Amino acid sequence: MKDEYDVIVIGAGPAGSTAAKFAAEKADVLVVDKHREIGSPKRCGEGLGLKAFEKFEIPLDKRFVNKEMCGAVVYAPNGSKVEIEYDGIYGYIIERKIFDKFLATEASRQGAKVLADTEASLLKENGRIIGVRITHQRKEKEIKAKIIVAADGVDSQIARQAGIDTTINLADIGSCFEYEMSGIEIENPEMIHMFMGNKLAPKGYVWIFPKDDDRANIGIGISGTEKRTAKYYLDRFIKSRPGLEKGSIIEVNVGCVPVGDFLRELVRDNLMVVGDAARQVNPIHGGGICEAMLAGKLAGIKAGKAINSGNLEMLKEYETEWFSTEGKKLEKILKVRHFAEKLGDEDMNYLAKVWNGDDLVRISGGEYSIAFKKIIKHPRLLGLLKNFV
Ligand SMILES: Cc1cc2nc3c(=O)[nH]c(=O)nc-3n(C[C@H](O)[C@H](O)[C@H](O)COP(=O)(O)OP(=O)(O)OC[C@H]3O[C@@H](n4cnc5c(N)ncnc54)[C@H](O)[C@@H]3O)c2cc1C
Repeated sequence: MKDEYDVIVIGAGPAGSTAAKFAAEKADVLVVDKHREIGSPKRCGEGLGLKAFEKFEIPLDKRFVNKEMCGAVVYAPNGSKVEIEYDGIYGYIIERKIFDKFLATEASRQGAKVLADTEASLLKENGRIIGVRITHQRKEKEIKAKIIVAADGVDSQIARQAGIDTTINLADIGSCFEYEMSGIEIENPEMIHMFMGNKLAPKGYVWIFPKDDDRANIGIGISGTEKRTAKYYLDRFIKSRPGLEKGSIIEVNVGCVPVGDFLRELVRDNLMVVGDAARQVNPIHGGGICEAMLAGKLAGIKAGKAINSGNLEMLKEYETEWFSTEGKKLEKILKVRHFAEKLGDEDMNYLAKVWNGDDLVRISGGEYSIAFKKIIKHPRLLGLLKNFV
């Protein structure tokens, strides 16, 4: 390991490995991750839409592609369903532990040096960030860098160390709990299943993402302000379904998803923040892998160009470009989340009657006008919509 790199990326999740890969096209890059095994623990439902595979030319490698997703079934509190069906495949349930290693390997193939079992904090001199202090297999070392990328996930400390205000309200956090279960009965395992309801999963939902015909990630996300834990609600859901209750638990995952506002300051001096650390997550369903990769790519390209030109001022372009592209789309989706959080169970039952699968696809992509036109005759929902615009 050298004493100096152009770019150091902290965190080898989807955001960090993607940033490292694109930065490495033009710069000398080190990416570190505190975990001994990149990708583990997984903290993920492992659903990844086709868009990510296409945008990043991800191969359909059997080692990390478990199962095709052909659509989704959304269940209202009264059990009525809205089905989202696609002509072809809509995405895949992947194996995150292998997928994240694949992304890190891609970064290393592009020339980045990847180092697991390495925890980093910022190294400063006269208030300026000059690199990182790492602990690698219990040995400490200081490494200098011109640019730092904070890709250290939802519990990010690095942005705060740089002086960025990272305070977040509990209401803006989705508290999640998940089992990977085997030996279960899944009705229609070609689809992913999402269950709504304020008693079932307050301000969130329960998901069943099948990895095999009899094996699935079964998880829940609820508001961070709830008194009862996510585990309480998930256990209750599983108990109410004999086809699930008889199954075995082969993995347990706990985690958080930042589903509120995005970090507003994505760049400070020579530091960029990407992925969950910057809260770049789809606020309506909490999916963040593709968002992390998109932001990582943009940040990585800007870092490479800044090194090439010697102009670190260019890093600010990452922030402006992200907010004018992906950020703009996610801001619209965030408005939908705020609307959805106010829905009662009766409202959801009504929406399941008037909305179809296409409406739900549009809404989760931030295009809500057609779907919302269908509910303006409903007095209570109209009231909620008035607050929305
Ligand atoms: C229960 C749950 C289910 C989810 N399901 C889905 C899903 O089905 N589909 C989807 O798209 N998204 C899902 N998400 C969200 C998704 O997992 C994240 O959005 C995604 O992992 C973000 O990638 P990232 O690279 O920003 O962060 P992470 O994947 O969290 O990676 C951050 C990395 O930084 C490392 N790190 C942290 N601090 C340091 C440090 N100081 N030094 C060195 N390394 C450090 C960590 O070890 C970690 O590997 C889910 C999240 C949860 C909690």
